[in-house]
Amino acid sequence: MSKVLDSFLQENLDDLKKKGLYNIIDPLQSANGPVIKINGRELINLSSNNYLGLATDDRLKEVAKAAIDTYGVGAGAVRTINGTLDVHIKLEEKLAEFKHTEAAIAYQSGFNCNMAAISAVMDKNDAILSDELNHASIIDGCRLSKAKIIRFNHSDMEDLRARAKEAKESGLYNKIMVITDGVFSMDGDVAKLPEIVEIAEEFDLITYVDDAHGSGVLGKGAGTVKHFGLSDKVDFQIGTLSKAIGVVGGYVAGKQQLIDWLKVRSRPFLFSTALTPADVVAATKAIEILMSSTELHDKLWENANYFKQQLKERGFDIGQSETPITPVIIGDEVKTQEFSKKLIDEGVYAKSIVFPTVPQGTGRVRNMPTAAHTKELLDKAVAIYDKVGKEMNII
Ligand code: PMP
Repeated sequence: MSKVLDSFLQENLDDLKKKGLYNIIDPLQSANGPVIKINGRELINLSSNNYLGLATDDRLKEVAKAAIDTYGVGAGAVRTINGTLDVHIKLEEKLAEFKHTEAAIAYQSGFNCNMAAISAVMDKNDAILSDELNHASIIDGCRLSKAKIIRFNHSDMEDLRARAKEAKESGLYNKIMVITDGVFSMDGDVAKLPEIVEIAEEFDLITYVDDAHGSGVLGKGAGTVKHFGLSDKVDFQIGTLSKAIGVVGGYVAGKQQLIDWLKVRSRPFLFSTALTPADVVAATKAIEILMSSTELHDKLWENANYFKQQLKERGFDIGQSETPITPVIIGDEVKTQEFSKKLIDEGVYAKSIVFPTVPQGTGRVRNMPTAAHTKELLDKAVAIYDKVGKEMNII
């Protein structure tokens, strides 16, 4: 290894370890279901994004296995050479139907999708109004576009309006976009889309909503945009196939012309190998299941409401979440990490989230109850929360 790389790595890794920010990864020895196995121990899992339990659903597994038999394990090329299989087209048609749009385009991940879509449309002569709590992939997608990034205070519509007005009246930008998460993943709050759309109409802003945590969860499963009845008012509806859908991949749903443009201009579509056949058919099946029944969606909400209520009754601060995302806010970083460690020791896998992922002094343990949890598992988890919370004088 070069000396300069060696000292760079040594210094920075040591620094992260000193600050307690070096991620220790515990590999799962099981599927990422409601109960997981780590280091030979079974733990109640409250850390996955597998909201509806579809990651381990037999119906998805079955179609994925059949797709491997028919198409093999890899797509073999990028989409524009000959990696587009008929199943990719079927997935995109299903996504458009699911999102109530004219068309859709699939990418290899949600992260990738934000890198692809923003930079395909925005450039250095443009500006992007971005909520300060937007996901890292949005931030990176904005940077990649070279557009001027103007951050607005989290869900502060007065601030957004003032900044949109200023940007518009400056005459400096060809296009201006407003970007927001549909559901904010650390607090579980929902973007104020009706107001955002109103401001966008006033100042002719392009609207971009990343609904990674809203799809399958809000709008009877169709997502945050549908929840507010704004399907024809949002230009870019972004989603991931990795959370409620249970597989992997990302997508943009929107007008046909927009999707046509992304198919010729977005670089991960042009230069990175297509989603695997098994992923594609499993995701398509998941969307079909979501569109044909609200059973899993309803179960998710029943479990989430129950779990939240139980924690609240015991005196935990669970913030202002409007979705199944359930933060238990502890505050102090060290105490938060200790709390999470004790929960894991007692049998609940719920990870701490601290600065810099969330603001200093707002450390929390984030819980994701899913449709696949039984009431018995949730009760067990709450009992462990109760025990550890009392031991640490949190409640
Ligand atoms: N956008 C948001 C808002 C997310 O929360 C995430 C997942 N952490 C992503 C994009 C990335 O999605 P994926 O995991 O499919 O890459």
